[in-house]
Amino acid sequence: MSIRKTVFLISFFLIALPLLFFTIYEYNMVNERILLTRSRALAEFATTQGETILQVASLMQTQSSSFTREIGQEDYTDDDLKDPLIIERINGILQGAVHEMAYTLDGSSRVMDYILLDGEGYVRASYQKDIIGNKLKGSPLYEVLTDTNPMSSFCESPFRAGEYGIWVTRRLSLNSDMLLSAFITTKVFAGQLNRMRLEQTGFGMILFDGDRVLSHPDSAYINTLIDNEEISSLYGEAMAGQVNMTGKGRTELFGVNSLYGYCVVKELGINVLVIQSVDEALITNMSFLWEAAIAGIVFAMVGIAIMMPLIQRKLIVPIIHLRESMLNATTGAYEPCLVKVGNEVGDLVNGFNRMVDQINASIMSLQHANDALRNAEENLQCDKERLKVSELRFQVATELSTIAVFELMSFTDEFFASDSWESITTYPGMDVFPREYAIRYIVHPTERPAVLKWSNNMETRFDEDLRILTSAGDYKWIHLSMAQITDEVTQVKKILGTVTDIHERVLAQERATYAAYHETLTGLPRRILFTQEVDVNLQRLRTNFWGVVFILSMDNFKRINDIFGFSVGDQAICSVAAMMQDRFEGMLYIARNSGNSFLMYAECPRNISNILELTRNILQVFKVPFAVGDLTVDIRVHLGAALYPDHGQDCSELIRNADIAMHDARYEQRQEFAIFAPSMQAKLERTHQIMEVLRELSAGRTPLVQYQPIVRASDLELLGFEVLVRIKESPIGMISPAEFIPLAEESRLIIPIGAAIMREACRKTKELIDAGHELHHMSVNVSTIQLEDPLFLDMVFDALNEVGLPYQKLQIEVTESLMISDLEISGRKLTQLRKNGIRIALDDFGTGYSSMKYLRTIPLDVIKIDKHFIDEIDLGYQNVFAVTMIQMAHDLNLEVVAEGVETEKQFRLLRDNKCDAIQGYFISRPLDFQDIDEFLVKLRKKKEELL
Ligand code: C2E
Ligand code: MG
Ligand code: MG
Repeated sequence: MSIRKTVFLISFFLIALPLLFFTIYEYNMVNERILLTRSRALAEFATTQGETILQVASLMQTQSSSFTREIGQEDYTDDDLKDPLIIERINGILQGAVHEMAYTLDGSSRVMDYILLDGEGYVRASYQKDIIGNKLKGSPLYEVLTDTNPMSSFCESPFRAGEYGIWVTRRLSLNSDMLLSAFITTKVFAGQLNRMRLEQTGFGMILFDGDRVLSHPDSAYINTLIDNEEISSLYGEAMAGQVNMTGKGRTELFGVNSLYGYCVVKELGINVLVIQSVDEALITNMSFLWEAAIAGIVFAMVGIAIMMPLIQRKLIVPIIHLRESMLNATTGAYEPCLVKVGNEVGDLVNGFNRMVDQINASIMSLQHANDALRNAEENLQCDKERLKVSELRFQVATELSTIAVFELMSFTDEFFASDSWESITTYPGMDVFPREYAIRYIVHPTERPAVLKWSNNMETRFDEDLRILTSAGDYKWIHLSMAQITDEVTQVKKILGTVTDIHERVLAQERATYAAYHETLTGLPRRILFTQEVDVNLQRLRTNFWGVVFILSMDNFKRINDIFGFSVGDQAICSVAAMMQDRFEGMLYIARNSGNSFLMYAECPRNISNILELTRNILQVFKVPFAVGDLTVDIRVHLGAALYPDHGQDCSELIRNADIAMHDARYEQRQEFAIFAPSMQAKLERTHQIMEVLRELSAGRTPLVQYQPIVRASDLELLGFEVLVRIKESPIGMISPAEFIPLAEESRLIIPIGAAIMREACRKTKELIDAGHELHHMSVNVSTIQLEDPLFLDMVFDALNEVGLPYQKLQIEVTESLMISDLEISGRKLTQLRKNGIRIALDDFGTGYSSMKYLRTIPLDVIKIDKHFIDEIDLGYQNVFAVTMIQMAHDLNLEVVAEGVETEKQFRLLRDNKCDAIQGYFISRPLDFQDIDEFLVKLRKKKEELL
């Protein structure tokens, strides 16, 4: 919170809080005062009322005495009063007087009564006509009326039930027993009191005997006992003269905390009580409290408004300036604060300014120190330069320890050498053995001729790296530099020279060179070394020899990596390298070309059979699975060869062409091996073009497919179709599956393309079924690459579910090209499919080299005998294979489909030998979807012809 806000809040509370406390204190004080004055007023009011009642009583007495005087003058006897005329007259007098008085008091005549009693106590005249003639003597009222003198008392009226009032009784004359009683009801006073109510609850009441409520604004309380000790005893004490007849107090009355004022009218024996609720009495003061609070706040605001400019000038502005100066100081601007005030903030500003001065002074001295330091640093730099020079000298001196200087007398063989001679050469001196011996036995045979040559004439300077045999029996690299000189003074000839220890340097160089030329995983030469070495050898090649460069590609290396992991892949590469080196040591120079291919070089006499022989031997190595750790892995290879000088003038060209040959073997010839031919170049280009087409196809286009019918052999009933993919139109025209499927597999584009084929096949099958065709199944070819894809199962189920094709309607054809080692994984997936009702067929049965193993490992429903075996039927011999296969399949509970049935002869033989189904041009070529109906018509005709 900013200092301005803080000061404002503090000032506000400093003014407002005391004001608040004062207001509350004052409020309480005023409350007390109000209660006091209010109860005093109540007492006065009660007194006034008491006096009024008393005055009324005495008025009545005066009235009564004047009546009695008026009537008493006549001196009536009791008998006179029996005279109706006299009574009439008296009544007239009394009624007139009563009326007059009652009207004066209350405005009505119903507040007063009178009775005239004769000497025997009979009522002779009355306001209440019906009691005239009644005898009152002996009644309690008569007792009360005659009890006091002057006879005025408080008593219940016998004519008005529950109504009390003042009775004033007088004798008509001194010598008469006749009494005149006038009655005035307390309602006169109560009515007045009630009319004079104080606010809401203040009221007066009249008590009789001190304990009974005679009058109350709420009539429910009238005639009830007053349950309040204080009030009851007050009455008693006042009557007994122990307390004032009038007074005030505060008590709980009728469940309300009340103020009261009282006045006991002793003459009449009543207590006039005026009460008011305390809360009500204080209600006016409550509004005063609010007004005081608002006034306090206004006062506080005004106070602040007056004080703020002062606080602003004296406190806030200086503090803000000081803060700015301090913040500037944190950024490095040490400037004094220019505010002047004569209070503690001013002291603070002064302190800050002093500090700034000190800091500025320190900065100045620091700058001086810095300058001095910079000078020192420059000096140090000079020292460093000097140090460098001396270090260099030291280094030279150290290096000198790897150099020895020597001197050898040409004729005497006397020898002198510097100290390091022995540590370098491992011999104490040259003179330990004859010079000839040294050259012959100590120098390495390779460098020996050069030394010998020099020693024969010694005319030039000798300067060579060479190896010497150390006293420990190893060779060591030294650099020997020497020349023969003739001492000008003595004319003595001597050899002067230096020996430098270069052994470590040469070894390090050799290691680096080796690493640059050899591959780390297998230790085999790299392609660069291979090229250099082969080029050297090609130059030396004998004329009737070929230099042959092979490229051996491990085709399924990527799959091995994918399935078993890179470490198994690496081990497989190492195993191949080791095996090849072992088998062909001295015959082949082997190098690693790239991740999955090897380069090999051989020289052999110019006869093609030699090359074929060598090739066979190489391929033979891969005919058995390789042991890699605990696993056995099938390694499939393709081999390409290029010959020098026919297919290239140097190694690089030969490698390029061998690579083309290898690709040709793989994709074109579908063989394991090929020797380069110039025509292959063009084919390679076609391969690239096909790849382009495949890439486009894989980008989501629905592939074109044809449907080749499969029919039951016994009755030619249609069983289903095989779905065959087609590329009919492309920039290079039609491409056959045999050409593009291997490329699609190699590039793994078969995964998206295969998925699209599966979707199309399912969609079209559903269409056929919906159109009413009875189809047992639709057979879709699935490549091993697709099977290995982790999403393969999802892909198949999604394609089926998408169109709602029953699972039983799908047949999947797999070929024997699965690697033996991943049979298990693929087998598991196929089992999963089969459990869901999808049929599995083994395609091209009999062409792979592990057919039997497949039969055991893969869950199958059908085998499809390859066309190759069917063709043999027509040749008239060897139909035994097809027949045996049918029998074997039946023994294994498998259905048999014969593929590529082209002739009636083939059909009949197959049918006779219980082949289950046939497929081939004899029945139909693969059809476009829209031609299926037409085919079915033809099929019916064919049936009629054949069956
Ligand atoms: P495949 O699965 O063994 O298919 C049978 C091949 O034999 C088809 O060749 C078919 O046209 C051909 N054929 C059928 N009857 C006869 C006949 O009486 N005489 C002759 N000469 N040939 C007949 P196509 O369509 O060229 O397919 C070749 C191979 O390409 C297929 O062999 C299959 O392995 C593969 N292929 C075809 N379509 C697909 C596909 O959609 N996916 C996958 N992964 N491979 C496919
Ligand atoms: Mg097939
Ligand atoms: Mg086939």
